[in-house]
Amino acid sequence: MQRKAQVGVVMSQAIVFASTCPHCEREQVQDRFTVADLMRLLYGGYPIEAYCVICDAFWPVSIQERVELGDAVATACEGRSLATEGDRWSQRPHK
Ligand SMILES: [Zn+2]
Repeated sequence: MQRKAQVGVVMSQAIVFASTCPHCEREQVQDRFTVADLMRLLYGGYPIEAYCVICDAFWPVSIQERVELGDAVATACEGRSLATEGDRWSQRPHK
């Protein structure tokens, strides 16, 4: 039950990444995807669409970026469990 709650926290966490806009060739920060969104898109085989505020345009991220996002999602899940582990250790007195 407690574990499930933690997964919920991870799932609603945003993964921020940058993708280069094919129109203006600037790196645009993408911060509107959560872990849950990315997992659904990655594992469902759907395109992950990045957005450029300057051009008001969407484009699908590259295969390489998809791989990197897969890693980021995995790290987010692992990072959360490691942080939990860290919390437990930090409760120990330091003296
Ligand atoms: Zn652009």
